[in-house]
Amino acid sequence: MKKIAVLTSGGDAPGMNAAIRAVVRVGIDKGLQVMGVRRGFSGLINGEIFEMDRHTVSDIIQRGGTILRTARCEEFKTEEGRKKAANVLKVFGIDGLVVIGGDGSFTGARLLSKLGVSTVGLPGTIDNDLSYTDYTIGFDTALNTVLDAINKLRDTSTSHERVSIVEVMGRHCGDIALYAGVAGGAESIIVPERDFNVDELCKTILSGRLKGKMHNLILLAEGVGGAEELAKHVEEMTGIETRATILGHIQRGGSPTAFDRVLASRMGAKAVDVLLEGKSSRVIGSKDGKIVDEDIDEALSIPRSFDEELYQIAISLS
Ligand code: ADP
Repeated sequence: MKKIAVLTSGGDAPGMNAAIRAVVRVGIDKGLQVMGVRRGFSGLINGEIFEMDRHTVSDIIQRGGTILRTARCEEFKTEEGRKKAANVLKVFGIDGLVVIGGDGSFTGARLLSKLGVSTVGLPGTIDNDLSYTDYTIGFDTALNTVLDAINKLRDTSTSHERVSIVEVMGRHCGDIALYAGVAGGAESIIVPERDFNVDELCKTILSGRLKGKMHNLILLAEGVGGAEELAKHVEEMTGIETRATILGHIQRGGSPTAFDRVLASRMGAKAVDVLLEGKSSRVIGSKDGKIVDEDIDEALSIPRSFDEELYQIAISLS
């Protein structure tokens, strides 16, 4: 292993830059030549590849987004597209590839490794929807962004004695809603992993009012959908003014938290070590406080788990 490359793919996440920096600097420190690929798999197919040195990654640890840019690439979903990408890597003399992204990007990396390319995946996604790892890079930052928004909404909804429904990201995974709901003291948390009943929700809101609650904060994961409709429905049923706030893409941006920077740095360093050990088709994760590597097929086949214990605590606390 003499020359490796790094790319970011799919949805961006705060901390991707810290991960790129770690791959580049640890790689160089261990005697490797490190290349950057722009625009994910799309840039790989098009040969958008350049050499990175220690200075290329100066002053980026605190920045959100990704200096390598990211993209979604339909061509890569075809065998022909992946063969082109594998050829480009061969032409550039690249022996190993680090893919920073979510489950879609990991599927791409897994298929590329079947063509003989040594690949290692780093989990860069705000959703925390990869079961093999306790945390993904970007989740903690997104959580804190949501928390900041909740704190502000709480002020105004208390003043107006309103119900506030906050829709956060998470199509299949309710972790952002669950963790932000607990941290922000939400009265109700609605996630795709658990059924919810709108009549029960309205009952909770009304009994809260009778107990003297001046506001009501509801966290809704986008996978459940329809914050606006839910707000309308709750307002009609309870007679209490109800507002929906959809946080959207602001959850993807911002300076990464210390937690995400350290996680990305440790995972980036581990990715280089794994390639140097001659392993391929691996993903890096965090398990019980340790940075580990796992087979990509096994990691992707683990069913999504939901933190029932935390969900029950949230119910008790509301
Ligand atoms: P994320 O990595 O954040 O989950 P996507 O699901 O959009 O984001 O995937 C990012 C890219 O990974 C896609 O644009 C595509 O190039 C590649 N990819 C996703 N799914 C597959 C697949 N089934 N086969 C091959 N490549 C895939």
